[in-house]
Amino acid sequence: MNISHLLRRSAQVFPSRPALLAGERVLHDYRQLAARVAALAGHLRTRCGVAPGDRVAIFSANCPQYLEALHAIHWAGAVSVPVNYKLHARELAYVLEHSGAHAVCVSGALRDAALAAGAAPATLQELGSDAWEQAAQGPALEMHACAPQDVASLFYTSGTTGRPKGVMQTHRNLLAMTMAYFTDVDDVHPDDAMVYAAPMSHGAGLYNYAHMLRGARHVVPESGGFDPAELVRLAASVGRLSFFAAPTMVHRLVEHVRRAGAAADGFKTIVYGGGPMYVEDLRRALDTLGQKFVQIYGQGESPMTITALARAHLADTAHPRWAERIASVGVAHACVEVRVVDAEDRPVPAGEPGEVVVRGETVMAGYWANEEATAATLRGGWLHTGDVGSLDADGFLTLRDRSKDVIISGGSNIYPREVEEVLLLHPHVSEAAVVGQRDAEWGEVVVAFLVAGEGGAVDDAALDALCLDHIARFKRPKEYRWVPALPKNSYGKVLKTELRAWLQAEG
Ligand code: AMP
Repeated sequence: MNISHLLRRSAQVFPSRPALLAGERVLHDYRQLAARVAALAGHLRTRCGVAPGDRVAIFSANCPQYLEALHAIHWAGAVSVPVNYKLHARELAYVLEHSGAHAVCVSGALRDAALAAGAAPATLQELGSDAWEQAAQGPALEMHACAPQDVASLFYTSGTTGRPKGVMQTHRNLLAMTMAYFTDVDDVHPDDAMVYAAPMSHGAGLYNYAHMLRGARHVVPESGGFDPAELVRLAASVGRLSFFAAPTMVHRLVEHVRRAGAAADGFKTIVYGGGPMYVEDLRRALDTLGQKFVQIYGQGESPMTITALARAHLADTAHPRWAERIASVGVAHACVEVRVVDAEDRPVPAGEPGEVVVRGETVMAGYWANEEATAATLRGGWLHTGDVGSLDADGFLTLRDRSKDVIISGGSNIYPREVEEVLLLHPHVSEAAVVGQRDAEWGEVVVAFLVAGEGGAVDDAALDALCLDHIARFKRPKEYRWVPALPKNSYGKVLKTELRAWLQAEG
């Protein structure tokens, strides 16, 4: 089944429900949206020569036409390649070349960047341009019938090590992911609204399908990005607003709401994930906004769907293991199995750390044109996530770190996240990132990068004392560095490779 069937179905069942909004302004209802998508698919097919299976990239910041482009590509049976719009021209060039993109849907502001990356002018389709509007009024294409195992989308991994890899997400993967939203994350009501505050090329965009299926509203903020004040205003005016956010975005929203004393009634569900949510931040978020949170753990290779920490788990404060549970990423989604294994792929006992592996309906078909990486990552029929975690006896998974971030100092493993959680207990520490620095004596030593909160920086002795109170002496940072901000990618993930590079550059 073609994943865009969800849009076609809603156009039939809920034709006059508002579908696409720019801020508070309704642009199209479901009937209009499906008609535009079918016409744009026709344009791609007949004017641009896009055949089923061809790859079409989308290189754009968030805008309402993003959803039109995504669905038009699928409607035509082609493969979408959503590209992080903050990529460097060289990185974009690699993705376009590697995927063999036949056409590129680009926002006006990024046209030059796409050309600089080698996109042929004739292949560019400018979102929201006059030509786009004209194409959206053209003759409709019948939806291409896809097999479940056909590739719907290529998701290029961020490639912090080596070249990015193109994850092949099939129509079946995306459908399973959509159903998993209902079983393990949240139910969606037709009056709900999904707001795209995080980049649509990533997790936020993937959540469009569940909201398409229910005939809910899709809201693209006028700013095209994450602006806490705008989001709070939209929550008040649009109402029943849900969104996906990286933990760093939750942190910023919470600080804004606290400072501004804003009401947050208009928010329905905030799904957070994509990186570690520190317990101190989560407690503050729950105190400020109430029980509106659900956590997901996923990766491009099993989109948005490995584990979930449900609202009910977060609300179950009387549970004897509540404190451990809120520090976990929850339990396996219903449609996948999750294990923690040793280096020989043998499951380890409860509580022991190992690599998280996943099997099930959402697991990718493999990496595009990269058999070697596919075979290694999917060996034995399990997706090897590269994440280190442990499962407790009740099935709750606690992530430590990505294996490449683990610090080995004097022969002992140190999980940076554990140290970061402790540093964040200090009221003056707003953000923390811990990395290893090469050291002749210890192999690696622990270095903490810190961003000060309103109270300003504190001296090393105070932080040392805090660490000695909570964690083993050998895990204590040898150095604390206060920085104005941590380097992050556009998905809000802290770039630890960059922090390590800073340290290495110093020798
Ligand atoms: P990506 O493929 O870009 O979505 O990145 C996926 C990676 O982000 C995972 O392999 C994890 O390392 C990390 N990640 C995703 N969700 C979470 C979460 N809820 N908590 C901690 N790390 C996460």
